[in-house]
Amino acid sequence: MRKYIVSIVGRPNVGKSTLFNRLCRKRSAIVDFEAGITRDRKYEDVEWNGKIFKLVDTGGIVFNSIETIDKMVLHQVMLAIDESDLIIFMVDAQTGTTDIDKEIAKILYPHKDKVMLVANKADNEKYEWEVYDFLQLGFGDVIPISASQGRNTGDFLDAVIERIPGTQSIFQLEEKSSATRIAVVGKPNVGKSSIVNLLLGNPKLIVTEIPGTTRDAIDSPFRYHNKDYILIDTAGLRRKTRVNYGVEYFSTLRTIEAIDRCDIVVLVLTADEELSVQDIKIASYAKRKMKEIMVVYNKWDLIEKETNTINKYLKELHYQMPFLQFAPVLFISAKTTQRIHRIMETVAKIEEESEKRISTAELNRFMEKVIMHRPPTHPSGRHIKIYYLTQAAVKPPTFIFFCNTPSLITENYRRYLHNQLREMFKFEGVSIKLIFKGRK
Ligand code: GDP
Ligand code: GDP
Repeated sequence: MRKYIVSIVGRPNVGKSTLFNRLCRKRSAIVDFEAGITRDRKYEDVEWNGKIFKLVDTGGIVFNSIETIDKMVLHQVMLAIDESDLIIFMVDAQTGTTDIDKEIAKILYPHKDKVMLVANKADNEKYEWEVYDFLQLGFGDVIPISASQGRNTGDFLDAVIERIPGTQSIFQLEEKSSATRIAVVGKPNVGKSSIVNLLLGNPKLIVTEIPGTTRDAIDSPFRYHNKDYILIDTAGLRRKTRVNYGVEYFSTLRTIEAIDRCDIVVLVLTADEELSVQDIKIASYAKRKMKEIMVVYNKWDLIEKETNTINKYLKELHYQMPFLQFAPVLFISAKTTQRIHRIMETVAKIEEESEKRISTAELNRFMEKVIMHRPPTHPSGRHIKIYYLTQAAVKPPTFIFFCNTPSLITENYRRYLHNQLREMFKFEGVSIKLIFKGRK
């Protein structure tokens, strides 16, 4: 199940990012650490009383057009209506109701069931009393808080949590089901929905639009060769949205969420376009999260083929994303359904690979052929020795190398071992983990 999305909207300077930072403070170190796709993100998981939700600061969504600030704010509000489960409408208790607050209120009013009005900068009791001025906006109770001082933010979080369904507790979101979760991800328009519809064999299942709910709430369970799978849909409400800008902001959020929740990532690229930075970001995020990965080049019908066409694509892919050398690559067409059936065959094969256990005999052979043949060295000349290795886990396959001084294993040698493990045991589409430990 995906997490509840709670967005903060409001005119500039009411304190949206101050509140966001206060609630997400604990995690900012992790955000800084994760490079690339997550660096500039303005959404974070917030935990409170055993429940978890995704908080979005819509003030962080910048539109690349030359709009007035007011117009931009209204667009952020419309986007939030389309994309979130709960909207925190923030006003400024020290300034009182302004014209732009009233305009925002007008847009939000038809969706008032999912709006919570919050008056920020209520730094003391005097301001708390005055928030009743905001009743005129028509959203009932106003919650006074002070984001910079932390005043009432606990009560505020209690109120948010109360609105979130009981199923969204931290434990339930862990999803212990034995089904394999598949996330079909990629840029807009590459053909994800077309592929998902073909896989499910029932276009209606996905296309159904339930007014007032975000479509990505739908995970689609299905069976293939007597095994259970769940397709995580990342398409969202794109067709309904009334704004063009900023949509990719939420689609990135959904992509990250889907990758976090899945076992296997199906990265859809399109054969008629160059690889993009966005593709590389998605792929490296999946890799960093140790997910199983396969690559699908869609729209193969649009390409004039020669004998070497496939190799050219593979060469370019591996040049741009060397970390995907291990991933199977398919060339398909959702339009003509060419090789569509290969997607699930490949998913099943990767699943099998991820659960593969290498026997002791084979690991001994690896020891002899690879490690004794080319033992680790260190520039300092210090003596390093690997004594033996074991496979400690599956999904992802995890290998522990026991050695005298783990810290002396160089990045180069680690890569050598990694490549040799793949050379010998394949693990196609599976991320593998290498751990170096001192001998007990
Ligand atoms: P945003 O544009 O809505 O994201 O607003 P910011 O979070 O950037 O805050 C705008 C200004 O209001 C900053 O100078 C903050 O320090 C200040 N501010 C934020 N929260 C509070 C608060 O609770 N009380 C007071 N007095 N100032 C606040
Ligand atoms: P999504 O945004 O990634 O979900 O992409 P869609 O499934 O909505 O497809 C985007 C557009 O590409 C639609 O107009 C599809 O009809 C078209 N399309 C999808 N797959 C193919 C394909 O294999 N070949 C061609 N020629 N067009 C395709």
